[in-house]
Amino acid sequence: MKGTGSYGEFRRLRQRGEVRCTDVVEAFLERIEQHRELNAFLTVTAEQALEAARESDSRFDSAAPRPLEGCVVAIKDNICTRGVRTTCASRILENFVPVYDATAVARLKAAGAILIGKTNLDEFAMGSSNEYSAFGAVQNPHAPGYVPGGSSGGSAAAVAARLCHVALGSDTGGSVRQPASFCGVIGLKPTYGRISRYGLVAFASSLDQIGILAHTLEDTAAVLDVISGHDPHDATTAPIPPTTTAEALHRPLEEPLRIGVLSEELLQGCHPDVLACYTRAQELLRAAGAHLHTTTLPYSHAWVATYYVLATAEASSNLARYDGVRYGLRVTPADDSEDLVTATRTAGFGPEVKRRIMLGTYVLSAGYYDAYYRTAQKARRKIFDAYRDLFTHVDVLLLPTSPVPPFRLGERLQDPIAMYLSDLFTVSANLAGIPALSLPAGKSSEGLPIGLQLQAPHYAEERLLAIAQYCLRLWSSASP
Ligand code: GLN
Repeated sequence: MKGTGSYGEFRRLRQRGEVRCTDVVEAFLERIEQHRELNAFLTVTAEQALEAARESDSRFDSAAPRPLEGCVVAIKDNICTRGVRTTCASRILENFVPVYDATAVARLKAAGAILIGKTNLDEFAMGSSNEYSAFGAVQNPHAPGYVPGGSSGGSAAAVAARLCHVALGSDTGGSVRQPASFCGVIGLKPTYGRISRYGLVAFASSLDQIGILAHTLEDTAAVLDVISGHDPHDATTAPIPPTTTAEALHRPLEEPLRIGVLSEELLQGCHPDVLACYTRAQELLRAAGAHLHTTTLPYSHAWVATYYVLATAEASSNLARYDGVRYGLRVTPADDSEDLVTATRTAGFGPEVKRRIMLGTYVLSAGYYDAYYRTAQKARRKIFDAYRDLFTHVDVLLLPTSPVPPFRLGERLQDPIAMYLSDLFTVSANLAGIPALSLPAGKSSEGLPIGLQLQAPHYAEERLLAIAQYCLRLWSSASP
C-alpha cells in the first residue's frame, strides 16, 4: 500500500490526491493485525484513528492541512494519552486511564497527527531489550527470535514494520537510540529540556527525555519542530522557541565538518561487526573531506556506573507513588502479615523494577549516600565538562549506538550486568543532557541492522540533523 512508509512520502502522495488518510489508516490497522506476533502494541486505538483520518482527509480536501496532517503516530505506553490506557507495561498500571494528554501528544494532535495506538516497552522504561515488559517481549521485525532493543522496543518495531509513520519513545539512557539501531530506523533524543516531560511517566527525571523514531530525518525534523518548545507545565523545559530543524535540513553545511571519533581504548569490548561498521563510516567521512579528531573522552570509564547509580536513585523516589492508595493496582492483603502497600508493590512490580528500587534506595541510604550518590553526582559533572571541552573543537561526536548488534531473546536476561553494559555508548548523552541521534549505518554478519550515533552540543539540533542527513547520504550511497 502506498503511503505506509515515511510521513513525508505520504504527505506528497496525499497532496497529489493519490492516497487518502482513511485508506492509509486502514492499511496500518490491517498490518498491525497481521503482525500481532511482534507484540509491538499494547493498545490499538482503531476507531479514534479512523475518525481522525476522516477529519484529516477533509482538511486536505479543503487545502488547509496542518503541519502533521494525517501523520499516523504510535506512542510509547509510558506517555499519557487522554482516555487511552497508559500502562508503562506494568501490572501496577494495567488499568490506568489518564485524564489528560502529555504535552507532546497534545501538540501532535493539534498539528493533525493521528494516534493509532500505544506501544510496548520494558516495564517503566527500565531495560535494553523490551524483555522486561509485563505483557511479553517484542520481536525484532528483521528477525524473529531477536530483541528489538529497549526500552522503546515497541515503538522501534512499529516504525520498522511499517505499522505507523512515526513513533514517540522515551530516552533515559538510550531507550530511543538503541532500539532504533536494532530495528534499522532513525532515533533522536533531543537536548534535555527541549521537549516537555509533562505527561511522560517519570523514571529518572533528570535524565528522561521524549524522543522520536522515524524512517527519515525529514519526518524526525517535522515531528520535533511541532513537539519541542517551552511548556508552562514543565519547569525544566528551556524557555526558548521550538526547533526549526526541517528548514535546517535544506541549508548547506559549513565545511569541513569536524567530527570527533573514539580512540581505540574506548572501543574495547565492541563486537567486530560494530567496529567494522564504525571504521567504514569514518573512512567514508574522511574521503569526503571531513576532519576527524580522535578523542579519549575523560571519565568515559565512569559512564555506565554513574548512570546506574543516578537512574536507580531517582527511580526509587519516583516509583514511591505506586502505593495502591492513590491510583493503579491495589492488592488488599488476605491476612495481617503484610500491609496494603507491600502487597500491592510485591504483586505489581516486575523483577527488574524491584531490583532498581532496591539499588536506588541503597545508594541513597544514609550510610552510603556519600560513597555512591554524591560521588556519582560529581562524576556527572566531570562527564558534562568533558563534553563541553570536546565541543570546543568538534561539531559532533560519532560513536557506535550499541557495542553489540541485536541479540537473541533470552540471551542477556540472566545477567543484569551484561544488560547494563550494553548501554555503554548511550547513557553519557543523558548524563550531559546533550542531543544524540542514531542512524542506520550497516548490517551485522547475520544481516541485522547496526546503527551509529551522533552527539552534539546542547540545543544544536539543527546542526545535528543536518550533519546526520549528510552522513546518511554518504553511507548509503557507498553500499559495502
Ligand atoms: N537501558 C537503560 C536502562 O535500562 C536505558 C533505559 C531508558 O533509556 N529508558 O536504564
